[in-house]
Amino acid sequence: MATCPGCGLETPGGEATCQTLFHELTARDAGDYRYARFHRIAVDAYSLQHPEQYCISAKSLMAHLGGLCCAFEFDGESEVYHALLRSLNGAPALEKPALPAFRGHVTIADVLRAAEPESHGHEVRRWARSVWEAHSSLHPFARGWLAKALADRQGPVRPRHGGRKEAIK
Ligand SMILES: [Zn+2]
Repeated sequence: MATCPGCGLETPGGEATCQTLFHELTARDAGDYRYARFHRIAVDAYSLQHPEQYCISAKSLMAHLGGLCCAFEFDGESEVYHALLRSLNGAPALEKPALPAFRGHVTIADVLRAAEPESHGHEVRRWARSVWEAHSSLHPFARGWLAKALADRQGPVRPRHGGRKEAIK
């Protein structure tokens, strides 16, 4: 068995097998809308577990870390995602912090064992949650950036549900 240096998954093929699993997941998401809605947080979770490939710059790190912050602390609110993406346009003034060595106990292999959309969604969220919690040292970095992104955005907030406007201030 070989260990994926990113996420720690043990398979006969190590890192190459882990990459193959990521392509399988992407194909699953692309082929079926019931899976597609979990695609963004799956990509964020995978990228944060494999930062040597997907979080090389401070900007890409924040794209994925901020994505999980939005998913778990802002209920996946699309206004917050859009503010995050806008804040990362061009060359944002970001310095890359030190990354944690431990990146969560759940891996992509757990997600691919799920055989239907409901358990798939459950497993993707459990995976992403474990990655987000493993990055607790970077939560202030993500929250601070998102707060600034929300404060800087143009135009008024259009709340879609009662009270949501207050929630994302
Ligand atoms: Zn891996």
